[in-house]
Amino acid sequence: MDRFEANVQANQERFLAELQEFCRKPSIIAQGIGIEETADWVRDRLQGVGFDSQVIQVEGGAPVVYGEMGSGDKTLMIYNHYDVQPPEPLDLWDSGPFDAEIRDGRVWARGVSDNKGPWMARVQAIEAYQKEIGELPFRIKWIVEGEEEIGSPNLGRFVEENKELLAGADACLWEGGRRDGAGRPVISLGMKGIAYLGLSVSGASSDLHSMNAPIVGNPAWRLIWALASLKDENENITVDGLMDHVVKPTEEEWEYLRGIPFDEEESKQDFGINSFLKDATGPDVVKQLLFDPTCTICGFLTGYTGPGLKTVLPNQASAKVDFRLVPDLNPELVLRLVREHLDRRGFTDVNVELLAQLWPYRSPVEHPWVKASISVARDIFGAEPVVYPSSAGGGPMYQLCGTFGIPGISGGGVGNPNSNLHAPNENIYVEDYMRSILYTGHLINAIGSL
Ligand SMILES: [Zn+2]
Repeated sequence: MDRFEANVQANQERFLAELQEFCRKPSIIAQGIGIEETADWVRDRLQGVGFDSQVIQVEGGAPVVYGEMGSGDKTLMIYNHYDVQPPEPLDLWDSGPFDAEIRDGRVWARGVSDNKGPWMARVQAIEAYQKEIGELPFRIKWIVEGEEEIGSPNLGRFVEENKELLAGADACLWEGGRRDGAGRPVISLGMKGIAYLGLSVSGASSDLHSMNAPIVGNPAWRLIWALASLKDENENITVDGLMDHVVKPTEEEWEYLRGIPFDEEESKQDFGINSFLKDATGPDVVKQLLFDPTCTICGFLTGYTGPGLKTVLPNQASAKVDFRLVPDLNPELVLRLVREHLDRRGFTDVNVELLAQLWPYRSPVEHPWVKASISVARDIFGAEPVVYPSSAGGGPMYQLCGTFGIPGISGGGVGNPNSNLHAPNENIYVEDYMRSILYTGHLINAIGSL
């Protein structure tokens, strides 16, 4: 791999110039700016490095770029996205968000870390690998979507409509990846899902004078009693049967959980709290954060809360409740369990709706390709990787990895702890960028020799 590394070194200037060129193309999905042009550019660049690539339309969605190259009995799927967040507020940027200025050893641009840098680094790694080492030792199926920043609303349908094209991969190299403040590479292997529920109760045909309260039911109380049955005062979710579906961490996952640096005092200070829920300390805090489902009242609306007082008996009450999901929960299951739980307690008057959903996914940590990615990261970054068996947040990993039952590996990326994703002055270090190219090349080599 020495020749590969020398090639990457020798091409640094060109690689960076190309990254700048990519970052100078606004592709802001939320504002509908530059999407088609950027998709075409991505397709052409993949073709340039030897991929058989095409733009695939999903009705009503942004084009997805799909590229395939290589042969053999192993297949690596790769997932990236070419869309970016809106750059606003513009006055907080030190240089234009689409100028892609290089300053103080960093590239500053909207999307440079999320997710144009990671994609470009992979392309350039493959280019250098082919030039110096030879043909790819396996097949690659690459999906570059354009709607990640608005929640990938059509990715599921794209997968459904192109199942045969996408099937047969052994693992998926996910987008993202960063190093932490101590220089340790961060690898993430899963994402939580979400079931966002709307609950509502109706009472009398209109708001009433509250003198009628002795004889007319109050939907606000009905909803409060219903909500109170979902969770107890010890912070346990009490929806009948829900916790039976929660998969506990394996011994190996516990190992990784214990290795995740988490400054409890600093975190409590940041949140402005005195203790974590369930008085958790040590690795239990991390375990709760990454492996526990949640039931959160996000909002509650009823009656009168304006200035002064109004003696009113409301006729409507509604709440928004999000459940963050871990395997083997899923949105439809949670909706059904909540419905049955409420019915069983006589809350048939509480209407429950699923407003938004995302399935959770967690990769098997013992999978050989996962092991390979961890070991390559250790070598390239020269530090012990921090492995997150799951992240606390959600993402569309299930739609690709869950559908095909393959691990999703996010790691070796270009980010740093202050990359300012989704914020002004998004940036990556040139040094991290070059290391990410090396990581990808070495990972190809490692998987090839498995
Ligand atoms: Zn993003």
